[in-house]
Amino acid sequence: MTDFAGKNILVLGGSRGIGAAIVRRFAAGGGTVAFTYAGSKEAAEALASETGTEAIRADSADRADLIATVTNRGALDIVIVNAGMLVMGDPLTLDADAVDRMIDINVRAPYHASVEAARRMNDNGRIIVIGSVNGDRIPFAGGAAYAMTKSAVQGMVRGLARDFGDRGITVNSIQPGPTDSDMNPANGPMAATMHSFMALKRHARGEEIAELASFLAGPHGAMITGSMQTIDGGFGA
Ligand code: NDP
Repeated sequence: MTDFAGKNILVLGGSRGIGAAIVRRFAAGGGTVAFTYAGSKEAAEALASETGTEAIRADSADRADLIATVTNRGALDIVIVNAGMLVMGDPLTLDADAVDRMIDINVRAPYHASVEAARRMNDNGRIIVIGSVNGDRIPFAGGAAYAMTKSAVQGMVRGLARDFGDRGITVNSIQPGPTDSDMNPANGPMAATMHSFMALKRHARGEEIAELASFLAGPHGAMITGSMQTIDGGFGA
């Protein structure tokens, strides 16, 4: 297991799902881990006491709150931007405010959090944004806005990798395919349809995504930057 002892780690959006698996993985590796949440206070507090981590209430859609939270953590070694939301449906009837909130959380927040973190990040730090295979492929109707947010992450990651590379800081995206969580339950109504697009016909587990994050954040990930690391069971193949 990668050793994160002595590392100052912040996970944005860590109370549930993939984010909670990431918190558990980095805490198990001995890192000093703080994570944010917006609505799930009970889940966040339970996870914090289970893992010996710190839960911070901060809405990623609130730029001032987000920036203050990142700044307050001081010199970070690892930042993982996981918080995301999914709004799907006919673009002709989709609620415009919900789409804008998704853009705030999935695009604006990763950008501002990454830049703020980099301002005082230690050399050889790691910035990881959880994107989605839907940034590459959206093989069903109703996903245009979500796919747009995850494609935006790709451009951001490529650019920031060049901006911060001279300090040894790497910037990458992890692009999961269907992964069991509240957002996308393995036994949900869309599961069979999603599996039909995959070579491996099952949802991933959050732990599998977290393990990839730990590889990228560890010493063996030092030469990987500006990249999209897809972990999707062949959804995009
Ligand atoms: P969940 O909905 O299960 O969990 C989302 C997490 O993000 C929760 O901890 C939630 O905290 C937090 N969060 C959401 N909005 C905010 C906000 N405004 N401020 C702070 N925290 C917030 O989602 P998943 O675990 O499934 O998804 C995690 C990431 O992975 C997302 O970026 C998603 O787009 C991406 N992804 C997921 C896939 C899947 O199949 N599950 C596939 C591909 C990508 P709280 O409840 O406290 O608000």
